[in-house]
Amino acid sequence: MLEAAGFETWLVNARVVRHLPGRPKTDRLDALPGTDNGGMANGVIRCGSCGQANRVPAAAAGTPRCGKCHQPLPWIADADDATFSEVAEAARIPVIVDLWAPWCGPCRMVSPALEQLARDLAGQVKLVKVNVDTSPRISQRFGAQAIPTLLVLRRGRVAARKTGAAPLAALRTWVDNALSGAAGDPP
Ligand SMILES: [Zn+2]
Repeated sequence: MLEAAGFETWLVNARVVRHLPGRPKTDRLDALPGTDNGGMANGVIRCGSCGQANRVPAAAAGTPRCGKCHQPLPWIADADDATFSEVAEAARIPVIVDLWAPWCGPCRMVSPALEQLARDLAGQVKLVKVNVDTSPRISQRFGAQAIPTLLVLRRGRVAARKTGAAPLAALRTWVDNALSGAAGDPP
């Protein structure tokens, strides 16, 4: 049975954005493999350190920590045309954006690896999934010609970009390189 005890604790330090307009439905995501392998379901994320289930909002001014043991929690959220600015661009930590669609086989392959990355890099990166079928403006804006298209955003700017699936190790190297590029950021 899930407990939401960790949620209230985190709220002390984070202003949660509620009632996001056009919040994406999660029913299609639930059908994807990888969304329930010890990670998250419907915004509930199990702590990798102590196992506590924590409810984590899609957007908040901080980074989520476990309400029980206070370790950083993986942050995995959905966004669409209406919520992308709030969920992805306004994030204080680098964001991995996954432009995907339910009919895309390679997307289903890369999704579990991205979620594993989000767990490995808890507190350092946020993973934001955007279904291009229901988010035409975002996919057009980033010129997604093929999916999966993966982006690393730093303070809302594209720091790295990759098209196509890749194994976990390659994704990890790609993200590490993007994250370590801080000195090269434009002012
Ligand atoms: Zn914990």
